[in-house]
Amino acid sequence: MTRVLITGITGQDGGYLTERMLAEGTEVHGLVHYGDSATASLAAAYPEVHLHAGDLADHAGLARLVRNVAPDELYNFAGISSVAFSWQEPILTAELSGVAAAVLMQSAFELQERDGRRVACVQASSSEMFGEADHSPQDESTPVRPVSPYGAAKAYAHHMAGVYRGKGLHVAGCILFNHESPRRPDTFVTRKITAAAAQIARDGSGSIRLGNLDARRDWGWAPDYVDAMVRAARHEAGGDFVIATGTTHTVAEFAQAALRHAGVGDAWHDHVEVDQELLRPVDATVMVGDASKARRELGWRPTVGFAEIVGRMVDHDMQLLRAGS
Ligand code: GDP
Repeated sequence: MTRVLITGITGQDGGYLTERMLAEGTEVHGLVHYGDSATASLAAAYPEVHLHAGDLADHAGLARLVRNVAPDELYNFAGISSVAFSWQEPILTAELSGVAAAVLMQSAFELQERDGRRVACVQASSSEMFGEADHSPQDESTPVRPVSPYGAAKAYAHHMAGVYRGKGLHVAGCILFNHESPRRPDTFVTRKITAAAAQIARDGSGSIRLGNLDARRDWGWAPDYVDAMVRAARHEAGGDFVIATGTTHTVAEFAQAALRHAGVGDAWHDHVEVDQELLRPVDATVMVGDASKARRELGWRPTVGFAEIVGRMVDHDMQLLRAGS
């Protein structure tokens, strides 16, 4: 039976990957942080998942976990997941999103040497590594030139993925562009907008306070991105893969689509306020990926478009409000 180890199992991607793996009869192990409030609900929903409490900053503990679980596939989704938060905690971000990834790859390499069988690693790299890229769309050869602490930490982990690939470890560096779902926390702009749109639709009034309305992002459907990572883990060779839809929309367009879907109408301007405090020190204007390599080599393609993503997220938030009232 295939055995997988997922770090960051309580997050959006970890949850979708867990469901996918359980459906195919795979043994699932997950690293959860001490005191993570999402652990209890995950354990209750999926009692067959083996949860291991630990800390990404405990290098010896991480190495022991990899040795003891001895996974066939290791998915590293853990770390600081928010660019905004990384400005508040830049050093912690380096430790958890950068160094811990290297510890996991070193541990996987030692396991592979010990057992003499392939240990496939997937590093969830991020489009944020590209920073203010000179050209669009970005692909695997775009220079890595981060402009945020989050991007810099992810860049280090991504480079280490290449280093360990050179040593003979199967590592896929999946360069994920923004990927959304109803499971996104509202620290991300998409969920913040859909939750607020549902509230405004219910109350008949209210507004969404946002930062940069002109930022243009390539927003995809999270389960599609999880599918890409599984394909990359099982591909004959490791490598870097950009995972993206190739189309962009502005934050303003997202807000407009969400408010319209919620039934607020076309007067979306009346419900959006710009808050200067929410502008970031540096914020890439456009992020858009070219996933041709993943399409060609992994047979991957996105299955859910922008309007459908917005609609599903708004519907979910409206349903939550109805259930709560
Ligand atoms: P990120 O790309 O991983 O940082 O994902 P986010 O969803 O946090 O941000 C996407 C874009 O939305 C960035 O360009 C932000 O500057 C922009 N943005 C505009 N207003 C907001 C806001 O209120 N919250 C967040 N999180 N982002 C915002």
